[in-house]
Amino acid sequence: MYEKISEQFASDNYSQICPEVLEKIIELNQDNSQAYGNDYYTKYAADKLRELFEIDCEIFFVFNGTAANSLSLAALCRSYHSIICSDVAHIETDECGAPEFFSNGSKLLIAEGENGKLRPEDIEYLATKREDIHYPKPKVISLTQSTELGTIYSIEELKAIKKVADKHGLFIQMDGARFANAVASLDCKPADITWKVGVDVLCFSGTKNGMAMGEIVIFFDRKLAEDFDYRCKQAGQLASKMKFISAQWIALLENNLWKRNASHANSMAKYFEEKVSKIDGIKIKFPVQSNSVFIDASEKVMSKLKEKGWIFYNFIGLGGGRFVFSWNSSTQRIDKLIKDIKKLKSLT
Ligand SMILES: *Cc1c(COP(=O)(O)O)cnc(C)c1O
Repeated sequence: MYEKISEQFASDNYSQICPEVLEKIIELNQDNSQAYGNDYYTKYAADKLRELFEIDCEIFFVFNGTAANSLSLAALCRSYHSIICSDVAHIETDECGAPEFFSNGSKLLIAEGENGKLRPEDIEYLATKREDIHYPKPKVISLTQSTELGTIYSIEELKAIKKVADKHGLFIQMDGARFANAVASLDCKPADITWKVGVDVLCFSGTKNGMAMGEIVIFFDRKLAEDFDYRCKQAGQLASKMKFISAQWIALLENNLWKRNASHANSMAKYFEEKVSKIDGIKIKFPVQSNSVFIDASEKVMSKLKEKGWIFYNFIGLGGGRFVFSWNSSTQRIDKLIKDIKKLKSLT
C-alpha cells in the first residue's frame, strides 16, 4: 500500500504531469508513426521551438537534465579542457560526475560566486589563474538559469559575462532546468537571455514544468552540434519513442503553457515568501526571483514540520529548508503550511 501525496514542496520534479500534456500524449497516441524522432510530431515540436527562440537552431530531445548538461558540455570540450561553474551548480553537486565522465575527463573549476551566481570577476579569476600546460585549459562557462538557489541572472549580468567569455575564448552553456521560470520572472523573450547574450548551448527542461520527462538541448550555432545525434545515441539518450517526448513539448508550447506554468510556480513562491517572512525569527536566505524559497529556521522547527508530513528538502551544508513551487501548487496548501510554521515557531 502506498500513501498518496496531494501536494509537496520538495521539488518541481515531484509534481504531476499537467493535464494538457497528458491529453496531448493521448491525442497523439492515435497512430503508429515512425520511431527515433523521425516522426511528424518531433519535427513539428522542433519547428515550434525554433519559432519560440526566433533562430534557426539545432534541437535534440533527451530524457533528463543530467544527460542534457553532460552531453552538451562534452560537445564543447575536449578531455583536457575545463568548465567554469558555481560551487552550487547541479553539474558539480548533483550529477555524479557525469559531465566529467561524458567529456572523458574535463575538469570543473568552481567559484563561490554570490547567491548561486557566477560573477564576471569569478570567471576572470578562474580563466587566468593558470596559463601553463599543467592545468586544464578553460573552455566553457556553465550558468544555471534560474540558479540552484532560486536567483536569476539579469540580462545585464549575462552581457557582462559574455564580455569575459569573449576575452578568453570561452563558450557559454546554460543549464535551464528552470529556464521557463527565469523567462517568466524577467518577462523577457527566450532569445533575450540566450543567443542574444552569447549563450551557445541551452538545456531547457520540460520535466520541472509539467511534463512526465523530457529535456531539450539547443545549439544556437549549428556547427557546434556536429555529430551530437551520435553522442546522444551512444549515451543511451536516443528515445525510440521520442514522439511521446515531443508530444509533451507540443502541449507546453501551445498557448504559452510553458510560461503560464512557470509564472504560476513563481507567483506561488512569492506568495509563500510574503507570508513566511512575516513570521518572527524566520529569515529568507536568498532573493526570491523564481519558484523556490530558502528559509532559515531552527533544526527543531524543520524536523517538526517533517514529522507533521510536510515534504521539503533541508540542505545540511546550507542550513534551513528549501521550498519549491510548481505548476500545481496552491495558495490553500501554502496557507496551511504557514499556519503550521507559525504554530511550531511559537512552541519552540
Ligand atoms: C533538476 C535539475 C537538473 C536535471 O536533473 P535530472 O534529475 O538529471 O533531470 C539539472 N540542473 C538543475 C539546476 C536542476 O535543478
